[in-house]
Amino acid sequence: MTAAAGFCPRCGSGLAGPPPTVCPACAYQLYVNARPTASLVVLDGQGRFLALRRAMEPMAGLWETPGGFCDGFEHPRDAAVREGREELGVEVRLGDLIGMYVGTYEFQGELLPVLDCFYFATLDVAAIRLDPAESSDMTWFDLAAPPKMAFSTMDAALVDAYRVQESLLSAK
Ligand SMILES: [Zn+2]
Repeated sequence: MTAAAGFCPRCGSGLAGPPPTVCPACAYQLYVNARPTASLVVLDGQGRFLALRRAMEPMAGLWETPGGFCDGFEHPRDAAVREGREELGVEVRLGDLIGMYVGTYEFQGELLPVLDCFYFATLDVAAIRLDPAESSDMTWFDLAAPPKMAFSTMDAALVDAYRVQESLLSAK
């Protein structure tokens, strides 16, 4: 199942096919683009990153990095800080962008394209207070050997994050 819109969001007429398409009744041009998200690779200074166990579907029970969708016109950097505040209860210190990855996210019975933006971050570990609605558990994993994460974009970002960290270390 892909992102399919059966009806025009402007006038409600039936559409001939999935986006990109043009409404036959009102000529509204319907596109579906990747929706931006922001996620945090929180490092502890000992080569480990913070993982949360998802409490919500999709992928409940699997490990994830903290993060979520950008609101409206929100910049991913701002969303990353806000998500840190909401999911971890702390003000994160945001680092460099690790990369952007296109993935899929199941929502309301559709597989939506997402553009996941990952940032390095550090924080005051003792101050973490998980939101039980979002996360049932937290742990630290070795960045060199992460487990399979809830989403493939997280797997890819962690590989790149490890590469960046290694190149920083070897440059010292
Ligand atoms: Zn229409």
